[in-house]
Amino acid sequence: MRFFKLVVSTVAVFALIGVGLVSTQSSASAISVPYVKGVVSFTFDDARLGIYQYGAPTLKKYGIRATFYGVSDYISKGYYKNMNWDQVKQLQTKYKWEVANHTKSHKRLTDLSDDEIREQIEQAHAAFVANGIVPETLAYPFGAVDDRVVDIVSDYYPVARMAWLGKGNQERFEGYGIRVYRPRYNQPASEIIQMIEKAVKNGEWLILNFHNIVPDNPGPYEYKRSELDKIAKYVYQKGYQTATIKEAMSLRNYNSVKNGNFDKVAGDWVVNWTRNNPSNIVVDNSGKGAYPSVDSSVYFKGTSQKDIIRSDQIKVWSSNTYLFSMFVRMESYKKGGLAVWVNEYDAAGRWVSGQWLGGIYKNYIGKKVYVYRPTSYRVARIQIAIYTNANSDLDAYVDSVSLVSSNKIFRPYFAIPKFISPFSKGF
Ligand SMILES: [Zn+2]
Repeated sequence: MRFFKLVVSTVAVFALIGVGLVSTQSSASAISVPYVKGVVSFTFDDARLGIYQYGAPTLKKYGIRATFYGVSDYISKGYYKNMNWDQVKQLQTKYKWEVANHTKSHKRLTDLSDDEIREQIEQAHAAFVANGIVPETLAYPFGAVDDRVVDIVSDYYPVARMAWLGKGNQERFEGYGIRVYRPRYNQPASEIIQMIEKAVKNGEWLILNFHNIVPDNPGPYEYKRSELDKIAKYVYQKGYQTATIKEAMSLRNYNSVKNGNFDKVAGDWVVNWTRNNPSNIVVDNSGKGAYPSVDSSVYFKGTSQKDIIRSDQIKVWSSNTYLFSMFVRMESYKKGGLAVWVNEYDAAGRWVSGQWLGGIYKNYIGKKVYVYRPTSYRVARIQIAIYTNANSDLDAYVDSVSLVSSNKIFRPYFAIPKFISPFSKGF
């Protein structure tokens, strides 16, 4: 019966929204939605003294706190023009920065054995702890990361940061693939300010990354103090929100979908979800999913018939705007598609309406994000339905299904301005 309603109302909604269809179909980034204002994070890597001498005091003028990713050997060994432990400690105590782990000796983790990776993380962590600092996030040296590295890092920290802005398959790393923008040493503050404006306008989270701050004549991996001052001053005067990496991440992830990662399984099926057809929809454990649990995902085999999974009912506020997202790996696509539908119920649990959010009709690996606004004030609960169209020929893996109220989310900074090389490798 429920299924019948769903089919009928799909037709109705298509007919009704007509011109407005594009607003539900296009990606969230193209739509103007009342997100919370964007967030800007300042991050500083490695150990150069200018971070302490010029970076921290400059940001402090404007009440901005940053995240420092320290390489413990660089600090311990007292290299020329590097910070010592006392200065690093002051970043935390005097400037209230987040001090986090950038490994022991800045080796490319992807080149190391499992044991060596653990050593790089653990020994650095121990060095910080010995100096009264407990790191809670990590940045990969050179931004070098792959599945194996993420698998190990996730034993230690809930979040890890990359070193560039590149789009690409890192998207599946979720919180272990946080992207940054690294201003060039001679890049004027005005260009960074443009990026900040764009991030704020779109409700995005822009992370800036620096290595050393100098008073004059910046070279590679350096940035001029006066330009940093202009950026910080602008953010301050505009009243834009800033956050350390840990703070920003803790503001995310209010996912109201139960078992959206499909980790909890009872028998041969995931809890909190139903499926109509156990022969075409199964739990897959071959590592086709997304972080935080790559191993498990839900596999759809597209066939002549429409197959569907449905979530438990989820409480929503009718006046809120939500972002729905899921990871999809669509392979061997020939025809048909995979789509998302929302069933809407009133407080008494009666079905009142529904919405089609969007679908995937090609080979694809990555996150899909759709905006969801309850259809009317009567909507008190929803059910998420993910289904293959009839007459599909495809293999689709779905994971990391989430629904987040837009007043609690920062979307990652996806947009890549023209002047940025999207795969410029980080230091
Ligand atoms: Zn580094």
